[in-house]
Amino acid sequence: MDPQPELKITNTLTRAKEAFRPIDPSHVRMYVCGPTVYDFAHVGNARPVVVFDVLVRLLRRLYPRVTYVRNITDVEDKINARAKENGEPIEALTARTAAQYQADMDALGAERPDVQPRATHHIAQMITLIERLIAKGHAYAADGHVLFAVPSMPDYGGLSRRDRDDMIAGARVEVAPYKQDPADFVLWKPSSDDIPGWDSPWGRGRPGWHIECSAMSWEHLGETFDIHGGGLDLIFPHHENEIAQSRCAFGTHTMANYWMHNGFVTVEGEKMSKSLGNFYTVHDVLKEWPGEAIRLLLLSSHYRAPLDFTSAGLKEAKAQLDRLYQALRNAADVAVEPEAPAGDELMAALLDDLNVPLAVARLHEAVGRLNKATDPAERSAAKSALLGGGALLGLLQADPEAWFQGGGDDDLDPAEIERLIQARVDARKGRDFAEADRIRDALKANGVELEDGPQGTTWKRAG
Ligand SMILES: [Zn+2]
Repeated sequence: MDPQPELKITNTLTRAKEAFRPIDPSHVRMYVCGPTVYDFAHVGNARPVVVFDVLVRLLRRLYPRVTYVRNITDVEDKINARAKENGEPIEALTARTAAQYQADMDALGAERPDVQPRATHHIAQMITLIERLIAKGHAYAADGHVLFAVPSMPDYGGLSRRDRDDMIAGARVEVAPYKQDPADFVLWKPSSDDIPGWDSPWGRGRPGWHIECSAMSWEHLGETFDIHGGGLDLIFPHHENEIAQSRCAFGTHTMANYWMHNGFVTVEGEKMSKSLGNFYTVHDVLKEWPGEAIRLLLLSSHYRAPLDFTSAGLKEAKAQLDRLYQALRNAADVAVEPEAPAGDELMAALLDDLNVPLAVARLHEAVGRLNKATDPAERSAAKSALLGGGALLGLLQADPEAWFQGGGDDDLDPAEIERLIQARVDARKGRDFAEADRIRDALKANGVELEDGPQGTTWKRAG
């Protein structure tokens, strides 16, 4: 019997690729930091969403139960500032941008997490955590604020492995008179009347960002859990501070056993910034490109490596998907089992620290086999590998006809195209070939190409 396939992931805590061993193999628990909702998500925000979506799909194949939690930060100073700028209520801004985020991530084929907790629904848990930290001597109240006392935790900094001076500089924390130590960070701060605030033992105020994730992961996953993920930019100070809060509040050796971080995203070779004019929101890119092409581009380099998001890359991703879907379209008559397996080689690629680029190469190999094979069993196996592997990557699950027929707003709608195709069939039946050709040419002029095959006429929009 083959040994149980083993998942290996790179753990930022140990800087090593390790075998994944869940705390409870019957229930794997994962937390990923979610968006602060005040604006459209940009392509850099979307990368962790699709990366951890692939991971959770893989975990669900390997384990009977997985709980995936991704929070929504709906109380934060950037939100307050933007609401003021827009002249709208904070709740209206956060509700609108959270819904937009959901729609954009849906369009990228990311399955929704099991729980999407909102920070404002977990204020009581945050206050409880802060009280515990104070009681244990890890935090202190001063001037309406509560601060985490960094020197109270001897092994603070274990995730980022920065030295003290680096940490103080890197955190860009203000040197405030109420701080006992320059590295101390805010757990709670006072709110003026015009911004959101909650009653607390330290007066009306609001939480710091870091305590939000410690409270939400505790509520939904427990004091310790398996995987904590996010972008590389969150390692310090955000994740370092989450670890400090949770470990010191619970007296645990660890917050999560495995910390996974995806690499940075650049756009056309440059750091994305509004001033450079290369700030791509998912919402805007979706106007021109299918979500699946954006997803494939975001998965095109290994998750830990940097990713350059370019127009050429989008074009290339779209062309790859055209090839994959064309193979499925040509094999429309080949039967497969409903829950097609992913194929051992593709699975092996993903088990090796989520090597998605290699897994995508395995899909292309399956196309090669599918296109070449004549034996029905071989064709069925190749199509299964394509569909099963695609499902694991969140790709190729659309109807191939729909993939080629997805068009822009100005295009003929599919019902109209089908009507014209039927008119052409009728013309040919009546041996009116001039009319049949006229319809074909008219469709072509509208960017629709017909293909006559044994199953009848299919169509696609010319790329
Ligand atoms: Zn977080």
